[in-house]
Amino acid sequence: MTQPYVGRFAPSPTGPLHFGSLIAAVASYLEARTARGRWLLRIEDVDRPRAVAGAEDAILRTLDRFGFEWDGPVLRQSERDDVYEAALDALRRDGWVFDCACTRREIADSSLGRDGAPRYPGTCRTGLPAGRAARTVRLRTEPGQVLCFDDQVLGRLCEDVWREVGDFVLKRADGLFAYQLAVVVDDAASGVTDVVRGADLVDSTCRQLWLQRCLGLPEPRYAHLPVGTNREGAKLSKQTWAPALDDEQPGPALHAALDLLGQSPPAAMAGWPTTGIWAWAMAHWRLSEVPRLRSLVVPGTFCEAEV
Ligand code: GLU
Repeated sequence: MTQPYVGRFAPSPTGPLHFGSLIAAVASYLEARTARGRWLLRIEDVDRPRAVAGAEDAILRTLDRFGFEWDGPVLRQSERDDVYEAALDALRRDGWVFDCACTRREIADSSLGRDGAPRYPGTCRTGLPAGRAARTVRLRTEPGQVLCFDDQVLGRLCEDVWREVGDFVLKRADGLFAYQLAVVVDDAASGVTDVVRGADLVDSTCRQLWLQRCLGLPEPRYAHLPVGTNREGAKLSKQTWAPALDDEQPGPALHAALDLLGQSPPAAMAGWPTTGIWAWAMAHWRLSEVPRLRSLVVPGTFCEAEV
């Protein structure tokens, strides 16, 4: 018997939902529902300083107005420090993590990995330099371990995490747990079988696979969707002034999201009530139609707030 499908949507409450996040919400929802699976909602507020007051409420309200129905209670990362600490303890017991004294500036001169970030040169792997205090906790990576996964949209992807990234941070200098640890621990704790999210996170996936191995956790399937960008190629975000979705007008945004996801929705859909839109979408959804691209330009109205 195959395992029942569990999917999730995991927005960060750094602002209201915009069209870029809607793409991930729509695709993860339709994948879960057409597989008769569960669809969980997780608020990724592990990075407390980036969380914006009121953003979580706004996100939940928008999802509700857009007709999304999530299963079970909403999980909040800010309430799960003890779970992340327990995972870190387990890794420490097994010798997978080490304390690191390096500052960002000390690592800045190191060679750059594929994502443009400096690769950790291994300074504290064998112990803290004399007189230096621990700032972060890092996970050991191993030379010669090329990790691969079969992305359901992008195809087979591989990375030598040791060569491209090096030992990476699980607990930050400000005492907060890193996204990589939280996401892996949470997906496993919730029994997530399928991760459907934006391709801006595809370069994190092999780090997450490595962490799953070190923690002895199962590996979910992955599907990375094209990330919505403006005409200049910048990812839609608060920084690029992506406007909040209009709670009063779900139709045009859902139509545009399905269109961008390659589903060829009828033009008239923009004027339909959400029940009709979801009925059409459930009947027609095909992950195989999603463009095999890491990014796609989004229609102007969803890109830039009017000034
Ligand atoms: N919280 C991340 C975001 O809002 C998503 C993380 C994930 O899906 O793994 O971009």
